[in-house]
Parts: sequence; C-alpha cells; structure tokens
Amino acid sequence: MFETTIAGSLPKPGWLAETQKLWPTWRAAGEELARAKCDATLLWLKEQEDAGLDIVTDGEQSRQHFVHGFLECVEGIDFEHKVKMGIRDNRYEAMVPVVVGPLRLKGRVHQVETRLARAHTKKKLKITLPGPMTIVDTIADRHYGDKVKLAMAFAALLNQEARALEKDGVDTIQFDEPAFNVYMDDVRRWGIKALHRAIQGLKCKTAVHICYGYGIKPNLDWKQTLGSEWRQYEAIFPALAKSRIDQVSLECIHSKVPPQLMKLLKGKDVLVGVIDVASDKVETPEEVADTIGRALQFVPKSKLFPCTNCGMAPMDRDIALAKLKALAAGAALARKRYARRR
Ligand code: ZN
Repeated sequence: MFETTIAGSLPKPGWLAETQKLWPTWRAAGEELARAKCDATLLWLKEQEDAGLDIVTDGEQSRQHFVHGFLECVEGIDFEHKVKMGIRDNRYEAMVPVVVGPLRLKGRVHQVETRLARAHTKKKLKITLPGPMTIVDTIADRHYGDKVKLAMAFAALLNQEARALEKDGVDTIQFDEPAFNVYMDDVRRWGIKALHRAIQGLKCKTAVHICYGYGIKPNLDWKQTLGSEWRQYEAIFPALAKSRIDQVSLECIHSKVPPQLMKLLKGKDVLVGVIDVASDKVETPEEVADTIGRALQFVPKSKLFPCTNCGMAPMDRDIALAKLKALAAGAALARKRYARRR
C-alpha cells in the first residue's frame, strides 16, 4: 500500500554538471563523463533506497535535459544550428535543435544507466522518456511539416527504446508530457494516440507524468496567470481514463488543482504529488500523510502512489535528499493512519 516513487529526475552532483540549472554544462567529456554519469546514477540509487522509496529511478543523471537527452540519440536532427523558439505556448524561450531529415535512432538511448541500475537494485525500477507531444513542442521542424506526423515519428522511436528498456528489466516506463497541460485539445485529438504508439506491445507498467513544470521562474509566473483553480486536468483526464496507459502522475500539494479532479482517473493508478518541487521548504511526514489523506477521498487506497509533483533536477541536492526522506516517512505514517480505510 502507498508504494512511493518520484517523478524522475534528481539534482546532478557538482562534480558531474553545473548545479541548479535546467540545461547544465557537463564538467567532463568522453570516457571521464561516461564514468561520472554512472557514479552519479549509483549514488542516487543508494540514496533513494536508504530514504526508503519503493520504486526507484536512475535520477536522470545521464541526460543533460529530459527532452534533449533523448534527441541526442536521434539521426535527422541538427544540434549544431539551434534556433530560438517559444515553447509551452510561448511560456519561455529555449534554444532548440532542428529536425532536418527522416528520424532514426542512432542506437540505444538509456541502455548504460538502465542496465547499471538494474544490476544494483532489487527494488522496482522506473525509467522516464519524454512524451511525443512534449518533444514536438521542444524542437523546430524543417522536414516533416506537420506536427502530428512528427509526433508519430518520434512515438515510433520512443517505442523502439521502450521495448528495449523492458528487455533490460525495467518495471515501469513513464512518459513525461508537461505539454498535455498546455494543448488540451491536441491531447484529445492526437496526444493520446501518439502515446499509444509509444507504448505499443509493452507488458511492463506504463505511466504518463503531467505537471505544471519545474519550480523555475517562468513556470511560477505562468501559474500566477492560471487563476484560483487550475482545471487543465479536467479537460484531459476523461480521455486518459479510457486510454491504455496504466498510471497517471499529477501535481497535488501546494497546487491549485481541485483534488476532486482525480476522480476522473477511475481505474488508473494515480501517482499523487505530495512533495512540492517549487519550494525549498521540506515537508514534514505529517504534511505528506495529510496530503495522502486528502487524495484518498478521490483515489482508492490500492491505486494511490505517493510521488513528487515534478522532477527535482534544478533543486539543491541536500534539499532534494531531505524531500525524498519526507516522502518515504510520510507514506509510512499514512500506512499506519489509513490502514483500515477502504
Ligand atoms: Zn513535471
């Protein structure tokens, strides 16, 4: 009951990359960098286990950014001549690579860190991939000329990597789709179809993470414009409830999402955000248990997985670690408190 997990990313140690940045520069290159990525993966695996988490991740230590880490392994993309583009409906500008030809995987994307993690933990292992809609929103296109075609092309590549990850022994594959909260009509039109292409043939658990972004300034400013109730989920959860995705990861604590919207995910596992990644204040176990209690009004006990609101990549390392411990301790407290509840 209440198996804990995180959205995916964790801060990179200062010896691996610049800290507290979303697109950090690596400290090394070549063999030395490859070794440092592996060391950081093992470090966070151990910290997650020691904190008491149930479903662990590689902490995304091997990728510079959650979208571009995947794109770097795709042929047909020009990384040399990045262009400035407004992303997430112009919420912020980013320097993005450009699709210039047919897309193809150059090889495996996350094999090294996944096999390493699998060999070093007996816990359930989750690996995250960017979702097709979010990729399309984080890249410029000079080849396909059609968003949906481009998304389906990426979905096929994601599926290729996901099937290989499953063979590597991964228990859950999660697709990160922050763009789902921005383009709700497109989610219903083609977003879920693209996700279905990405999970085609998988037997492991599949998840989609939909959030209001990392705790960085443009996101915090955007949230200010969303009014007193954030109802984006309301537009997409009914369609997700009918989808073949097993789990939905969402924001809850300190978020203006009306918690009753979780009811719209009937039948799905719900990864409830009980840790705020936009605040350095560490939650107490009581606060975490209280948030779980609120979610229990709308999600059955057997379907509720306490989680973080979003990734912790840009956070301070010590604070992230303290939050992992609070997550596990809060879930333990909730198990005691709500053991008898149905
Ligand atoms: Zn997120």
